[in-house]
Amino acid sequence: MMRFQRTIKNTMAVEGIGLHSGRPVRMLLQPAAAGQGIVFIRTDLGGVEIAAAAENTSATSYATTLSRNNASIKTVEHLLAALAGLGIDNVTIEIDGEELPILDGSAAPFVRLIVEAGIQMQSLQRSTIKITKPIFVREGSKQVALWPADSPSISYFIDFDHPLLREQAMNIPVSEESFLRELADARTFGFLSDVQMLQANGLARGGSLENAVVLDEQKVLNKEGLRHRDEFVRHKILDLIGDLSLAGMPIIGHVVAHKAGHSLNARMVKKLLEHPECWTVIGSPAATRELPQEAHYQYQASL
Ligand SMILES: [Zn+2]
Repeated sequence: MMRFQRTIKNTMAVEGIGLHSGRPVRMLLQPAAAGQGIVFIRTDLGGVEIAAAAENTSATSYATTLSRNNASIKTVEHLLAALAGLGIDNVTIEIDGEELPILDGSAAPFVRLIVEAGIQMQSLQRSTIKITKPIFVREGSKQVALWPADSPSISYFIDFDHPLLREQAMNIPVSEESFLRELADARTFGFLSDVQMLQANGLARGGSLENAVVLDEQKVLNKEGLRHRDEFVRHKILDLIGDLSLAGMPIIGHVVAHKAGHSLNARMVKKLLEHPECWTVIGSPAATRELPQEAHYQYQASL
């Protein structure tokens, strides 16, 4: 099926604090030309441009960072997931600080912003990567694999040593509808026992029960509880969608992941791009005169 690139219709502003830096930041999402991709601009550094691309990616277990010319943009994964989830190919993001606002810790606020901005279809075709041979990365018991499949889907399994996280698994087709309905509002989570260690290392300084699910040894500390019984695995899938979007094209294949994280996701993207014998590109970015069909979404968060 022929798919067309998309941008947003209107410029939108959003403010918040960084999860790790704790600093306030302001961001502007702007429409961008077909073929541009997702580009961040650090307005506080004289306008350094940093494309959301594999070659600019570095990742830790805690967040995904983009860097270029000594400038960085941190914790990009939830915005990238929202953009990928809604099939937005081209957008320019001006930001006056180093870390994206964490907002409520999920992709839902970004989804609401994009839906409010409106989605503009563009006249260039979208290219996709179709997996033709299995490819995987592994680190101890953590693993991400990409298998050939006719349509995109993700199977994810986590088994942390915690009563609420011992075994959670989800198998989900990747579509705009499934992203909106099942994944977008799943929040970041963390363990209280890790918070002090993270803060001693200059991380999670903006972290609170407003923007993360926090667990002690037995239970969830957030008064409002969970948004989904299996919110944890849903958030891991959301992160994976954001991180895999750094391949530069949507991936058609079956992703099978076990306890992965941002650094392993980034390794998967790099390995994928280094092994073009494992995939083909479908759809060339040729212009068309046909008027692409408009996309309209309603997004009602469950909160
Ligand atoms: Zn996340």
